[in-house]
Amino acid sequence: MTSPRKILIVDDKAENIEYLRALFVSQGNQVITARHGAEALIKARQDMPDLIISDLLMPVMDGYTLLRHWKADQSLRGVPFIVYTATYTEEQDERLALNLGADAFILKPAEPEVFLQAVGKVRLRDPAPPSQDQPPPSADDPALLRVYSETLIRKLEEKTLQLEETNRALQRDITERQRIESNLRESEERFRGTFEQAAVGIAHVGIEGRFLRVNDKLCEITGYSREELLWRTFSDLTMPEDQQLGAKARQKVLAGEETSYALEKRYLRKDGTAYWVSIITTLLRNDEGEPKYFISVISDITERKNLQEQLFRAQRLESIGTLAGGIAHDLNNILAPITMGVELLRLNPTSDKAAGLIENIERSARRGADLVKQVLLFARGFEGTRVAIRPKSLVREVEAFIANTFPKNIRFVAGIPLDVWPVQGDATQLHQVLLNLCVNARDAMPAGGELHIRLSNLEIDEQYAAMDQTLNPGRYVAIEIEDTGVGMERETLDRIYEPFFTTKPKGKGTGLGLSTVLGIVRGHQGVIEVSSQAGSGTKFRVLLPALADDTPGNQIAGDGATPTRGEGETVLLVDDDSTVQAITRQTLEAFGYRVITADDGAQAMAQFAMHAAEVALVLTDMVMPVMDGKALIPALRRLKPDARIIVTSGFSADLSDERLLELKVRHYLAKPYSASTLLKVVHDALTEKFT
Ligand code: ADP
Ligand code: MG
Repeated sequence: MTSPRKILIVDDKAENIEYLRALFVSQGNQVITARHGAEALIKARQDMPDLIISDLLMPVMDGYTLLRHWKADQSLRGVPFIVYTATYTEEQDERLALNLGADAFILKPAEPEVFLQAVGKVRLRDPAPPSQDQPPPSADDPALLRVYSETLIRKLEEKTLQLEETNRALQRDITERQRIESNLRESEERFRGTFEQAAVGIAHVGIEGRFLRVNDKLCEITGYSREELLWRTFSDLTMPEDQQLGAKARQKVLAGEETSYALEKRYLRKDGTAYWVSIITTLLRNDEGEPKYFISVISDITERKNLQEQLFRAQRLESIGTLAGGIAHDLNNILAPITMGVELLRLNPTSDKAAGLIENIERSARRGADLVKQVLLFARGFEGTRVAIRPKSLVREVEAFIANTFPKNIRFVAGIPLDVWPVQGDATQLHQVLLNLCVNARDAMPAGGELHIRLSNLEIDEQYAAMDQTLNPGRYVAIEIEDTGVGMERETLDRIYEPFFTTKPKGKGTGLGLSTVLGIVRGHQGVIEVSSQAGSGTKFRVLLPALADDTPGNQIAGDGATPTRGEGETVLLVDDDSTVQAITRQTLEAFGYRVITADDGAQAMAQFAMHAAEVALVLTDMVMPVMDGKALIPALRRLKPDARIIVTSGFSADLSDERLLELKVRHYLAKPYSASTLLKVVHDALTEKFT
């Protein structure tokens, strides 16, 4: 084995030097470097190399000049000189170099093999060990031949060992690299897993606000597809009123005042519906501290917000009730001496005029006392006698009153089925409830309209109660009072039950009507619901617990006969509300159906494609993320034109005749629904004959 060669590399470009250094060091050589000809001469004279490889175009002293000096130097001229050039590549350049005494002329860039080969061809000044360059001894000298062979074998062994060592080093390198790579891959997968399967929306957002990367959950929350989101910015999703919030917070973080911010604001879904989100955003900076991008975690908090609002409203009502109760009490104390005084005065009126005045005072005092009674009713709740009442007779009484006193341009329509269950309560108070609601309806229809009163039995089972959390399971009588009047804005709707809240002119409204209604309904363990829209009427629904009626022959029956059971038919149930989905599934399964579920239209399409042959019926919600019912139904029909479909929704507009006709759907379920209604509609849809 030769001792390692010492090679002087001259190049003004660091990367060229590094390339050659790596190449030669890997071959077991020692490397010296210089940046130009002058430095090369100095270094070579201090530390004689075995070989010099030089660039041509260099500052201070170029390669040609170096070559001239080299060959003129007694001690250096024997050291092979290789020219390695990228600039002077013409034939005459090579000729000049060779004429000046260069031993080889290599063009850049050269593959390592080419380079090593060319270098290998240069005869080194360093005398090779005798065995290497000497020709094998002649065959007729067996002793010499043995020594020669032994040397060769030893050299071979050394070389093999060296190769093995290099190989091992390489292997170590490769396994290390593989280990690092697999680590990287794992952590990348872990990250992707967390990112994709997170139960919250996660997004990487550019400094200018554009989404760079989003996970599935965020698509679900926003209703946009991934591609659609990547074209949008945070502010595109934000409700105009809430734009400022985020912009300010982002500015603060970018300015370095904070590292992250948390916000609650309103977003608009793709379908235009508003919802509340909580956003936590952190700014990521690079090592130099410059902003790279934001990471935002977004969750839908609409439900929490709604509950909060309900709670606030309830608390406000309660505190107003307490306040009003206190005032009413004081008023009672003020009114008592007046009414008593008036009574005394009436016994002994001083004149006719005085008698008139006294009567007036008495009437006013009585009205005051009535008001106080109403306020106290609201504040303290129901305190009255309870008797069994036929709701039908309540409605008949109100009807008589209306016929006598309401303007003729208001048409009264009563819908009273024969078998309405009785309720228990105070007839006068319940009468007042209906009357107050009807009077409000009248006031809302100054130009006339229709006033409907409907009675119905409503059995609220676990299924229904799970869908409407304000109700406990049980039997109720529903009284609906609906008008076609002016309706209400949201702000009004929020406050209607507050005592003294009125939108009517002074002297016309007291603002006590609905607070009294609420007090009475609650006192009867009932519930009151309202739905209204500005310009399109108002509907109040009062639910009163039905009275258990044990007289034989007058049993409170369910909605009809026992529901028909399924025969193992498969229902594809599509609903994004997990509670509704779960309870509906339970009901259907308990009654002999098989159920496949999907959380949105896209999932439903996938399920349907997989199970098209088995699915006998699709029961789908209308409002869903990703793909709503309106998009799902035509898509289903493309796969199977005669698919049996039931739509369900909490919004009556979704179930209007026009909408159903448009979707070519004949069966629907208004949310919330009871188990028996569900089973009936499912049975009807499954047994419907196509014409
Ligand atoms: P008042 O009738 O004295 O104003 P209420 O408590 O009965 O007080 O009603 C409060 C408010 O609720 C009304 O002023 C009105 O703005 C609104 N309201 C109640 N019922 C209706 C209805 N059917 N249509 C429109 N607005 C209504
Ligand atoms: Mg009123």
